[in-house]
Amino acid sequence: MDFTLPEEVLALRDTIRRFVERELDPISEQVEEEDRIPDGVAAKMADMGLFGLAIPEEYGGQGLPVVAQCVANEELSRTNACFRTRIGTNNGIGSMAILIGGSEELKRKYLPEMAAGRLIGSFALTEPNAGSDASRLQTTAELKGDKYVINGVKHFITNGDIAGVHTVMAITDKSKGPKGISAFAVEKGFPGVSVGTIEKKMGLRGSHTVELVFEDCEVPRENLLGREGEGFKIAMKVLDKGRLTMAACALGAIEKLIALSTEQAKTRVTFGEPIAKRQAIQWMLVDMAISAYAIRHATYHAAWKLDRGERVTKEAAMVKVFATEAANKAADSAVQIHGGMGYMKGTAVERYYRDLRLMRIYEGTSEILRMIIAREMIA
Ligand SMILES: Cc1cc2nc3c(=O)[nH]c(=O)nc-3n(C[C@H](O)[C@H](O)[C@H](O)COP(=O)(O)OP(=O)(O)OC[C@H]3O[C@@H](n4cnc5c(N)ncnc54)[C@H](O)[C@@H]3O)c2cc1C
Repeated sequence: MDFTLPEEVLALRDTIRRFVERELDPISEQVEEEDRIPDGVAAKMADMGLFGLAIPEEYGGQGLPVVAQCVANEELSRTNACFRTRIGTNNGIGSMAILIGGSEELKRKYLPEMAAGRLIGSFALTEPNAGSDASRLQTTAELKGDKYVINGVKHFITNGDIAGVHTVMAITDKSKGPKGISAFAVEKGFPGVSVGTIEKKMGLRGSHTVELVFEDCEVPRENLLGREGEGFKIAMKVLDKGRLTMAACALGAIEKLIALSTEQAKTRVTFGEPIAKRQAIQWMLVDMAISAYAIRHATYHAAWKLDRGERVTKEAAMVKVFATEAANKAADSAVQIHGGMGYMKGTAVERYYRDLRLMRIYEGTSEILRMIIAREMIA
C-alpha cells in the first residue's frame, strides 16, 4: 500500500493553500459582511482553473482524478465556505449531469465555458414539497413538438441567481415514480425561467440560495440529458462524487478549527496557566484530531476507489455522514475553547459553527444517507 500523493497533486495542494492564505482568508470577513464574493476574486479563482477541476481536458477543464479534487476542496475549506461553494457547482452537481448525459454538442457548448468560470451551473432538484423524497417532485416537462415545456418551482438552489445554465429535474411520466424523472439543461435566457426569492440563511454568506420559477419554459428537445426517465439515475451518480468532496471539505474545516483552537488554547491564560495545559481542553483538541485522521483515510480511500471506476454509493454516504457530523462536533468544541469570544461575530469559529451546520442537510441529509447505507448493507 502506498499512501503518497503524486507530485502534481502535492503541487496543486500547495498552490491552493498559498492562494487561500494570501487572497481568500484575508477577505473572509468582508465577504461575510457584504454577502458577496468580489468579482476580481472570482476572476482570480477562474484564472487558477478552479472552476474546471473536474471537467475533462477535452472540454477545457483540468480533468483531475477525484483524489485531487478532494485535495482542492480540503484546501479551499480552510477559509470561508462560500469560496468552495462558488466553484462547487461547476465541478460537481452543476456540470456533471451535462457531462454524463449531454450530447456532444451540448458538452461543447457549455463545459468549456464552465471550466473557464465564465458560465456558472446550478443543479435544481429540490422543490417546496420534495426534498429528501424526490418521488414527490411536481415540476413537469411535457414534450410539445420539438420543445419540452417545463412548469414548476425549485427552491434552495445554490448559485441559482448567478447561474447561466441549470440542470433541472422534472417529471416526464408521473406513473413511473423516480423512473419518470428526466434531467434538462435549461439556460437562464430560455423563455419562462426566472429567479424568485433569494433566501436569508443561517450561514454560508457570500453564496446565494434561491428559488427558480419555470412558467411554460420552453427547452429545446436536444437539451434533454440522457434519455427520458434517466434523470434520477444521473442525479444519484452526480451525488456520489459530491458526497466524497463534501467529506473532504469537512476535513479541511476541521483542520482549520484545530489550528485556530490550538493557538487559542496555547495563548489564553487562566489561573496562571494556558488553558492548553488542562486535560479538559486537550481532550477536545484530541477528539478533533482523531476525527480528522479517520476522515482523511476513509475519504481518500473512497476517492481512490471511485478513480478506479468502482461504485462507492455506500462509502460516499458513510464518509459524508461521518465527516459532516464530526465537523459539527469540532465546531462546537472550537467555540467552547474560544469561550465568549467564540460566540462573537467576526470570530472565524463562530462562522464555521454556522456554516458547517448546513453540511448535514444538503446533498443528502444524515438520515437519508443512513437509509442508503442500510439499504446497501441489507440488499
Ligand atoms: C443552503 C442550501 C443549499 C441547497 N442547495 C441545493 C441545490 O443546489 N440544489 C438542490 O436541488 N437542493 C439544494 N438544497 C436542498 C437540500 O438538498 C434539501 O434541503 C435536503 O435534501 C433536505 O430536503 P428538505 O429540506 O425538503 O427536508 P425534508 O426532506 O422535508 O426532511 C426534513 C427532515 O426529515 C428527515 N427525513 C425525511 N425523510 C426521512 C425518512 N424517511 N426517515 C428519516 N428521516 C427522514 C430529513 O433527514 C430531515 O431531517 C439546498 C439546501 C440548503 C439549505
